Amino acid sequence: MAAASPCSGCCFSRRRLLPLPNNKRTPFLTVPFTNRPLCAIKCEHYRRRCKIVAPCCGEVFACRHCHNDATASGDRHTICRQDVEKVVCLLCDTEQPVSQVCINCGVNMGEYFCDVCKFYDDDTEKGQFHCYDCGICRVGGKENYFHCAKCGSCYAVALRDNHQCVENSMRQNCPICYEYLFDSLKGTRVLDCGHTMHMECFSEMVEHNKYTCPICSKTALDMTHHWALLDQEIEATIMPPVYRYKVWVLCNDCNKVSEVDFHVIGHKCSHCNSYNTRSTSRPADLSGSSSPSTSDSSENNP
Ligand SMILES: [Zn+2]
Ligand SMILES: [Zn+2]
Ligand SMILES: [Zn+2]
Ligand SMILES: [Zn+2]
Ligand SMILES: [Zn+2]
Ligand SMILES: [Zn+2]
Ligand SMILES: [Zn+2]
Ligand SMILES: [Zn+2]
Repeated sequence: MAAASPCSGCCFSRRRLLPLPNNKRTPFLTVPFTNRPLCAIKCEHYRRRCKIVAPCCGEVFACRHCHNDATASGDRHTICRQDVEKVVCLLCDTEQPVSQVCINCGVNMGEYFCDVCKFYDDDTEKGQFHCYDCGICRVGGKENYFHCAKCGSCYAVALRDNHQCVENSMRQNCPICYEYLFDSLKGTRVLDCGHTMHMECFSEMVEHNKYTCPICSKTALDMTHHWALLDQEIEATIMPPVYRYKVWVLCNDCNKVSEVDFHVIGHKCSHCNSYNTRSTSRPADLSGSSSPSTSDSSENNP
């Protein structure tokens, strides 16, 4: 039976009128009716018509995240999604091997179903799709994503040929909250340097006036306007004569050193104009008793 209509029988079971085809069991729903949208169970994560049997502990949960949350305090362990073998139909309470349609009552247990991830979800507006390179289901619409083999994850099509690839960039923990990024339920942001973090962790970082990648210290936002403001401020703030000396800075953006005027407001890289610099010692190849020009000329005049 194809369960095409939005209600495939659970409304009947609500009225306790549904005799099962084989009369084996009475309709029984394991979730309370209150707050329960018609036709499906809705946990914090998904809407579907089955629960899963955890392969690790044999207990029944709405979804693997519910299982992981429940075991987070205490006997902490997580479900490997591909390992789920059994589900329990919410309508007829039949425990059965994973498939989209209940073998007993024929209800469609999830509008979206992936038999690799053993994943069910009725909210198809999320645009779920399975990426065979990632090996997991993703959301956001297949047409909006491509898989970057080097970064090891699916990225928005806008980033195709338009991002700095970092080997397995997404197979890391978020540098802010330390959650593993690859299969995180939260959106991620790819910084200009190619490193990744949660979208919301990025926003929080910017709110705290931090504009650099926590991993490599490169500028993470377009700072053109901000740098122009610093130019103006520096021009308007004359340093007293005692502070008029030169310092060496290393640029976090282009990794080059330059010798610049000391200023309390900031030091601008003379190569790429970024103020994302830090003071450094005089480069080794320029230090010593003779000046660079002298050593050059001595090399040219053996
Ligand atoms: Zn859940
Ligand atoms: Zn069923
Ligand atoms: Zn999948
Ligand atoms: Zn992918
Ligand atoms: Zn890449
Ligand atoms: Zn994070
Ligand atoms: Zn970075
Ligand atoms: Zn620079």
